[in-house]
Amino acid sequence: MSSDGNGRSWWEALLSEEARTASSSAIRDLLRHAQRPDVISLAGGLPTPELFPIDDLRAATDRVLAERGRDVLQYGLTEGLTELRELAAARATATDGAPARPEQVLVTSGSQQGLDLVGRCLLDPGDVVVVDDPGYIGALQALRGRRPRLVGIPLDAEGMRTDVLAEHLADGLRPKLCYTNPTFQNPTGATLSVERRRHLAELAARYGFVIIDDDPYGALRYSGEWLPSPASFDAEHVVRLRSTSKVLVPGLRIGWVIGPEWLLDRLVIAKQAVDLHTSTLSQVLAHELLRDPTWLDAHVEQLRPWYRNQRDALLEALGDELGDRARTNPPDGGMFCWVELPEGTDTTALLTTALDCGVAFVPGGAFAIDRPCPDTARLSFATESPERLAEAVRRLRTALDRTTVTA
Ligand code: PMP
Repeated sequence: MSSDGNGRSWWEALLSEEARTASSSAIRDLLRHAQRPDVISLAGGLPTPELFPIDDLRAATDRVLAERGRDVLQYGLTEGLTELRELAAARATATDGAPARPEQVLVTSGSQQGLDLVGRCLLDPGDVVVVDDPGYIGALQALRGRRPRLVGIPLDAEGMRTDVLAEHLADGLRPKLCYTNPTFQNPTGATLSVERRRHLAELAARYGFVIIDDDPYGALRYSGEWLPSPASFDAEHVVRLRSTSKVLVPGLRIGWVIGPEWLLDRLVIAKQAVDLHTSTLSQVLAHELLRDPTWLDAHVEQLRPWYRNQRDALLEALGDELGDRARTNPPDGGMFCWVELPEGTDTTALLTTALDCGVAFVPGGAFAIDRPCPDTARLSFATESPERLAEAVRRLRTALDRTTVTA
């Protein structure tokens, strides 16, 4: 059989709606060129491999395989390794301003899996989800699989505009979920103020929805004050997603969800169907490193100044090369800097010229929900050296000069 009555090939007719409609974006296709050796990429958000704790991981691997190889290579509980859940709960209690018990923790394959599982357990097609606009693409992708109605809430320098959300709610919008990355947001670098964290938690309690507090970057703070999780104001309405990707290594794929027990039970059943459990060996290795507070503190104290220096190098280059042409709110942490280029700039078109000039970035439009932001771009300072960051910004200026001239 070569096609069905609608002109689709036999196999297209077999695809689920989700698989048929999930498509690669034009921007993603363009960014394939970012891999070229002549291109300096500010597009990805890869943690620097120079600071991966490879020797410690190798020693831990040797140790656990020698001492308890049969256990660490065996199937495990869907909820995750008991000692890692205990450690996750203790860390959350110490760093979020909101206590957590081990029974509230589900270990996941990265926080990305947490996003998928929460969507699976809470959403039916057509349900409303309010999200940071612009927002983290991976979250949007995970949630879109459930075919919800996404409503974008604008951000400013203090993160999600909870006053705008409150207006929507007063007008009758009834979301089931609110997705936000409140600390050093991907893509804008903005941090939700403490007043807005409290306000968001109040709105969730008043209107009965769940907040996803997705915070993979929180430990990477370079300036400003620590802030409590929205869960510190209302733990019953907040699901915390945490990740070891940015502090240890992303390749272990270890994250966890911390949530109210009514949701945890459902998440565990959903995860069972997806992958039975997260890699036992990865969990044991993450636990081996994280359980030593002296090691962990020393490691994070290496990461912070390194990334701070990267951030400062990018900001300095932007100031030197682009001056008023690139407006940015310096992020207090994380890996991203959001720039607004002169009004009328089309950063998707600029990317093509930029690639010709040997630099890549992500046009802001890739993160947009309801508000196109054609003159914005996300620049990552995580991966390239300060010298290469400066060179990348010089190339960006050349690309901008060219597009301005031809416009
Ligand atoms: N949330 C945000 C905001 C991210 O930027 C990322 C990855 N860059 C993730 C979640 C997923 O991280 P992981 O699955 O590696 O924990």
